[in-house]
Amino acid sequence: NPVEDPHLRRGPRGFPLLPGGYGRSTYYTGAPSPYAIKGEGYRVWDDRGRELIDANNNFTSLIHGNAHPDITEAATKALSSGASWGIPNLYEWELAELLLGRLPELDQVRFANSGTEAVMSAIRIARASTGREKVIVTKGGYHGTSEVALVPGGPSYQRGVTRGVIDDVTAVPLNDVEFLRQAVESAPDAYAAIILDLLPNRAGLLTINQEFVRTARELATRYGLVLIIDEVISLRLGYNGFSGEYGVTPDLLTTGKLIGGGFPVGAVCGKAGLMAEVDPSRPGSLPHGGTFSGNPVSMAAGAVALRLYTQDEVKRLNQLGDTARETVNSRVADAGWEIRGRGSLLRAVPAGAEKVDEHTQHSLWWASYERGLLGSPANLLSLSTPMDEKVVADIADRLADAVLAVASQAPA
Ligand code: PMP
Repeated sequence: NPVEDPHLRRGPRGFPLLPGGYGRSTYYTGAPSPYAIKGEGYRVWDDRGRELIDANNNFTSLIHGNAHPDITEAATKALSSGASWGIPNLYEWELAELLLGRLPELDQVRFANSGTEAVMSAIRIARASTGREKVIVTKGGYHGTSEVALVPGGPSYQRGVTRGVIDDVTAVPLNDVEFLRQAVESAPDAYAAIILDLLPNRAGLLTINQEFVRTARELATRYGLVLIIDEVISLRLGYNGFSGEYGVTPDLLTTGKLIGGGFPVGAVCGKAGLMAEVDPSRPGSLPHGGTFSGNPVSMAAGAVALRLYTQDEVKRLNQLGDTARETVNSRVADAGWEIRGRGSLLRAVPAGAEKVDEHTQHSLWWASYERGLLGSPANLLSLSTPMDEKVVADIADRLADAVLAVASQAPA
């Protein structure tokens, strides 16, 4: 049945109830968006009656797809005993054990409600423990919407951020080892932290190379900076996280998305010495709360999600991603496009592009949508465990068709 377009429902003063008609700016695709009505496994149905392969997975958080029965059962069971309480719950300990079990070099975790909050807290822990204020990020990286995290996005992201915050952040070009070294060595006592996303999507889903990560680790150790690796998206790429694949141990690791099983979540994991900053029994510790932090529903769902994301599943999904990249690359190379990414994360971009303009991203989103493939507005695709070889071959096919359609419309 057709659903009434909520855009048409106006408040008494004539405005749509959500600014621009959107509840998240990150949904925006340049034209009125369809609405999701139902999801099951790797599929989503929208209000226009379309069945889509869901490779958006709520921006990579649904590692087991939509409404996985075991996760739904765990969340429902937790919920039926109360959505959240004002004293600690036991679910939190279970998720902590499962998550830290995969990060053997890190001792403790503090949960939050989003990746944004996790990164925000990690930066504060780094500043408090070092007594320094500045942080190093990589240019174009995305770490959520806290003030510091917005700075590397450039001028449009920096609107509304104070000059003081902007001046506290140094953005290093991706993989520019010398720039990184000089930044740190020019003022080693000024920097509290280096924050890295090893597969930065907003910067074009190019991987950070080994040398850059190792240099960051070395410099952090030598000059007493805190190395924060932001695995809000990339944790899925290895059983021990993506930093595990690099063989590099951060001092703090931030994550979120998949570890909540589809519910709001964020986490800062770290060495005990640093995490002591948020130990409330310590005089002068940092206040960190969050009415819904560590809530039973997110924790229970997350625990099942992590349990189901076994070593074998990590490997299987990563291999499926490799095959998809190969297939699509072979079909779109002549049209001047390429598929980037690692493991179960992929993204089509004009070959060699560092920055893809929004019009091109949105054109590819719609071209994919019309072919029954749901990606993110910035064209990030993520696989989920309900997918098999056949489904991923189908994704590759639809994506290649969409890319070729966009490539034929306009010069990239
Ligand atoms: N860090 C990274 C690397 C992210 O990709 C994101 C979100 N896509 C965030 C932080 C923020 O997470 P959230 O949207 O849960 O606040």
